[in-house]
Amino acid sequence: MPSYVRGRYAPSPTGELHLGNLRTALVAWLAVRSSRGTFILRVEDLDQPRVIEGAEERILDDLRWLGLDWDEGPDVGGAHGPYRQSERMDFFAAALQKLENRLYPCTCSRSDLRRLASAPHGPQEEGPAYPGFCREKQRHTERPPRPAALRFSVAPGDVFFSDLMMGEIQQNVAQDVGDFVLRRADQIIAYQLAVVVDDGAMNINQVVRGADLLDSTPRQIQLFQALDLPIPRFAHIPLVLNADGERLAKRDQSTNIRALRHAGIQADELLGILGHSLGLRDTPGACTLGHLVDAFAWEKLSRKPWVCSGVLKKIMD
Ligand code: GLU
Ligand code: ZN
Repeated sequence: MPSYVRGRYAPSPTGELHLGNLRTALVAWLAVRSSRGTFILRVEDLDQPRVIEGAEERILDDLRWLGLDWDEGPDVGGAHGPYRQSERMDFFAAALQKLENRLYPCTCSRSDLRRLASAPHGPQEEGPAYPGFCREKQRHTERPPRPAALRFSVAPGDVFFSDLMMGEIQQNVAQDVGDFVLRRADQIIAYQLAVVVDDGAMNINQVVRGADLLDSTPRQIQLFQALDLPIPRFAHIPLVLNADGERLAKRDQSTNIRALRHAGIQADELLGILGHSLGLRDTPGACTLGHLVDAFAWEKLSRKPWVCSGVLKKIMD
């Protein structure tokens, strides 16, 4: 365990915070506060076309409503700012420069890539592995004929890591994902690059986030290595599911924190419910953040997805 923990929560202001997001934020915060570390809030607003006006303020407000606080962030500042990714373009440009000999332009169109869809799939949701069409092509052409994405030549072999929640993980990025995009053709910096550059620059040594990002981690480990950055430890928190067993969506009103607040739920009630769902409390009755800090231990945390419907029904009725 690192002797001094620097952990973070990194929401994207592309919608409202839902119960799953807030539960993950709570674990990230508890894991830092129970070890007297530093908690950082970083806003991942690079995908500007998807950013929703006012969402950042609403997310921060929901986090504060639960009682969470942060030592560094867009509103409080800090030594590793700015804390909004849209204001950190220089960092990403420098990283792309550093990676230059591992990058190549890719002009594959959506339909080129769709034709791959019949190929065998890797475990990730993004579809089949990219077979490296443009890696060869660029050797023969001077300039790409249309706006090009930048792909990262992945290293062969397996990536291994030990996740605090999910255990031992192994993935062959070259086979399962292939060379992946670091800057899209529309010039937007990809999440995979931004998150690694910023976790590195902000000295983050503990990454807590939703299990939906587990598949991204081997790619990010390759980037940490290529950029000579220390690899943080990871904890991927099992997802929250609705009554139909589906993962929560930002647009789903019934699991949106705004809606729950509007329905009258109190922060201590929600803390009790979340603490219980996580395995930190024996009953779902109201509790304080202090109770959860005292109870926090990685070993106790539930490793299963949490179906939140029963609890919500009780609140909303
Ligand atoms: N911004 C990402 C999200 O909201 C999380 C990134 C991370 O924690 O690595 O899904
Ligand atoms: Zn291509």
